[in-house]
Amino acid sequence: MPRITTTQLRIAPSEESGFQKNLNDGIFSVLLGYHLPSTDRPFKLASEEGLAVCKQASKDKRISSLMLYEDPSCDLPYGMLEVAQEIRKSLRRKEIIAGISGRGLDKKELHELLIELAHIKLNGVVNDCGPALHDHPQNTKGIPESSTRYLDSPAMIWQANQTWPGGLHGAVINPYKYTLDDTYLQYYKMAKLINSGSNLIVTEYGWDPAKLHELQWYMQQRNIVEPVLAKILMLSPGDVSRVMNGDYPGLNMSRELGTRLQRLEQNPADFIRYELKHVGLQAAGCRLMGYSGIILGGCSDPELYSPMVDAVFESLETYSSWNDWVEAWQEFHQVANLNFSSPDQYYIYNPLMDQDFLDFDTEKVKVSNQVISEPTTMDKMIYQLADSLGLSDAQDPIRKQIRSLLCGSSDQKDWDLQKTEMLAAAQCPKGLEDGPCGNSKVDGQCEFGHQACIYSRILRLANKHKHLEALEQAYEPE
Ligand code: SF4
Repeated sequence: MPRITTTQLRIAPSEESGFQKNLNDGIFSVLLGYHLPSTDRPFKLASEEGLAVCKQASKDKRISSLMLYEDPSCDLPYGMLEVAQEIRKSLRRKEIIAGISGRGLDKKELHELLIELAHIKLNGVVNDCGPALHDHPQNTKGIPESSTRYLDSPAMIWQANQTWPGGLHGAVINPYKYTLDDTYLQYYKMAKLINSGSNLIVTEYGWDPAKLHELQWYMQQRNIVEPVLAKILMLSPGDVSRVMNGDYPGLNMSRELGTRLQRLEQNPADFIRYELKHVGLQAAGCRLMGYSGIILGGCSDPELYSPMVDAVFESLETYSSWNDWVEAWQEFHQVANLNFSSPDQYYIYNPLMDQDFLDFDTEKVKVSNQVISEPTTMDKMIYQLADSLGLSDAQDPIRKQIRSLLCGSSDQKDWDLQKTEMLAAAQCPKGLEDGPCGNSKVDGQCEFGHQACIYSRILRLANKHKHLEALEQAYEPE
């Protein structure tokens, strides 16, 4: 396989254009992320500052588009349609994309929302199954029960293409995973999303550029050509403790970086200066690694808007070489890898984030020789029994009862056991049948914290049975 050369898009800060046009013209895009305001205050009050930031972005030619999405730490945000209508009134000409969370949404509601969003002239949607609902059902011991109140991104992508043909339809994956299982599961899900009709991938927030580099190499190694936007979060004083406390499901920050930022928080001016430099460097690194653009989120202070966007464009223009950028990144952090220092943290490739290795090179890059673990004896037995008894399409009451006991299915719906290696997706609190959400914890535990993510078991069985490619198959409606 020949050496692959990373494609870097141009910076064109002074032209008025949207993300879609930029993609066609080979221009790196900077989108502004707007978090839906929380319902804990009246709408006008809750949205005032964010709207002021959006109005600045509407006049700023450097910002290609606006993306609206839920703040992952906000339990009860205002509805997407209500916010999108308000923003559309103020930003008549800017391209706007809606980040739709599948939590608490059903297919009919999604269909109606898509029609409304197209009607008010939004440009597309980016789907995500979303974090846990604040009122997710649990049993008397506090263990989460399976719920059917979550839509997963492959089904949402399929629906978006049906309801809104011609729109820009993307989906979120989380590359900031540190076990082999979680890492590959996110990449298999990415392939499934693309096969299901996603024409854009968006990464979750994170602070480890080695993982962003890994994602680009993975795509190069597998010849996956798809635009990817990286979400970058401008932190405010107080945010770091919330990230470290796990208030943002799926967001992982290393203890080293968290401790440093918490020290800086004691002097807000120093903290903001640090964050401006940090965000600028992250943006420049993304462009050099081959990302199509970034989504800048977290700015709700109108006074911070200009310094933040200026810092990003200054950095984009300063760092035109990978070598210089890696040096600047290391100098900024003072150590080579501040992000995750434990040798147990899994990366597929070595060396990532090295000055001599921007491009994936089959001859020089070392691919980790760690392999997917064997399934447990119990999981192998469940699979064999369920398979030999034909439980996946059992209709008689006795075999249905066995299925329920053996495979963990429930009566809520007809779980498709073939998709999940005979382990019913009812064992996932969100009932996801088409791959994991992006919110497992750094050690592979489920977002709800009560067990390992069920998809780790599914992956091990799929690997044993040589069914891995099934994890990438396009979503098929029931
Ligand atoms: S089991 Fe996995 S996919 Fe399901 S909610 Fe937990 S972390 Fe997400």
